[in-house]
Amino acid sequence: MRISAQIIYNLFAPSYCERRLFFAYNNIKPLEPGPFEQLIYKLGLRHEENYLRSIGEYTDASRGRLKERIAITKKYITEKVPIIYQGVICEELIVNNKLVTVIGIPDFLIYEEGGYRIRDCKLARHIDDKRHQEVIAQIKIYGLLLEKLTGQKVKKMDAVLGDNSLLDITKLEVINPGEILSRVINIAEKEKPPYSPVGWSKCMGCGYRHICWEIAVKNKDVALVYGVDQGLARFFWGKGITKIGQLLDNYDETSLAEVNRSWGEKIQKVGKKANKILLQARAMKEKRNILIKKIDLPSSNNYVMFDLEGIPPYLDDLEKIYLWGMQVFGENDSAYLPALAPIEDEGDYKGWKNFLKNSQKIFANYGDIPFIHWASYEKTKIKLYLQRYGDIEGLAERVLKNLVDLCALVKKSLILAEPSYSLKVVERVAGFKRTQEEYGGNWAIAKYIEAVETEDRGIRKGIIEKILKYNQEDLKATWEVFKWFKKEMAK
Ligand code: SF4
Repeated sequence: MRISAQIIYNLFAPSYCERRLFFAYNNIKPLEPGPFEQLIYKLGLRHEENYLRSIGEYTDASRGRLKERIAITKKYITEKVPIIYQGVICEELIVNNKLVTVIGIPDFLIYEEGGYRIRDCKLARHIDDKRHQEVIAQIKIYGLLLEKLTGQKVKKMDAVLGDNSLLDITKLEVINPGEILSRVINIAEKEKPPYSPVGWSKCMGCGYRHICWEIAVKNKDVALVYGVDQGLARFFWGKGITKIGQLLDNYDETSLAEVNRSWGEKIQKVGKKANKILLQARAMKEKRNILIKKIDLPSSNNYVMFDLEGIPPYLDDLEKIYLWGMQVFGENDSAYLPALAPIEDEGDYKGWKNFLKNSQKIFANYGDIPFIHWASYEKTKIKLYLQRYGDIEGLAERVLKNLVDLCALVKKSLILAEPSYSLKVVERVAGFKRTQEEYGGNWAIAKYIEAVETEDRGIRKGIIEKILKYNQEDLKATWEVFKWFKKEMAK
């Protein structure tokens, strides 16, 4: 049996899933990577190349067949070569009473103080006992292999993070490498894919979603029910409850509230969530939305639809909003009002300033009308920018006062027969159709970074136009959902 340390990634990243590891080990083909996955790969490669350029003289073991690379790495290590790049260590280890061949390719082996230090380049900027366990697991396996090869304890292991800082992971004992290997082998050796509950945020970024999600929908899998978290789905699985109908047949609000399921590292009762989970299950089983209570929507002749596009902190120095999109809809529609952070120094601040100027125009023309947004992202980011740059004439505070989270209102009053309340799902319920074939927050991030990096002004303009179109469609979608929701409340 042969296992590569790289496969550990498939177990832990982007979120823990035994099925993904089983598929990867058994060479089951994932979907082609989308623009976002390609971007992450490209950025990872570039991060490694940048570090490689800064490290001085090194000995390259990255070329040739695996067998040759294993032999040459062994030779370099015996000769105490100062820096080995992409060496391959292949050792036989006893795991679960079996002899297993394990392969690891650390980015750098650096000779110092009588032994080798292991160093790997990683895009992540925050690694600890909660975040990016896959990085720790992978490097620790390299350590295990190097110890076996040299017969010496590895004294230092570290990672060059996305912001170029060095993180010493030698003492991070979150995951025991022997235990990881044992877990990997148990999963890889199974005859059929192991159980792992589907989940919207867990599966939508996974290359095997076409397999698992399709099966889950066909089987009316209980894990599809919004509110049934991973711990609860596993609890149901243990009790033989796999379908939505079985959940409804076996539990009422009282008995479900009493269920203890794992919640992170703790055990927690389902408690007050039971009622909504059962309603969600009923809505999905009966394929109809269920009204919980009617609510009053803010009354106005006009409404601002408001949507931000941002870059997560692990992809940039700053947690950045690169597009602040707004448009007024109602009796008197406005033009689309995007505030795009210019691609230049101070661009981040200018984007914020332009957004506040656009808000000022809206207040001047329409007064204090509701700013409708989907979920909490917009509110959180305005607060972040208020801290970062401060306000201008009280405009940001005024926007904050007028914010209305439409997603929260929908969730409070309606149970949708859907596995998610993301805008892209709810807009379809409202009958909205997009014109772009490719879209989505991650798609926009990948495109924006492409625009930042190209020197070609024509290409950049074309990409930015597509992103603006996507953002404007988000605003239109929010407006369509608002109108649909208003009608539902008026029925
Ligand atoms: S689609 Fe979901 S359940 Fe399937 S392998 Fe991927 S993360 Fe796991």
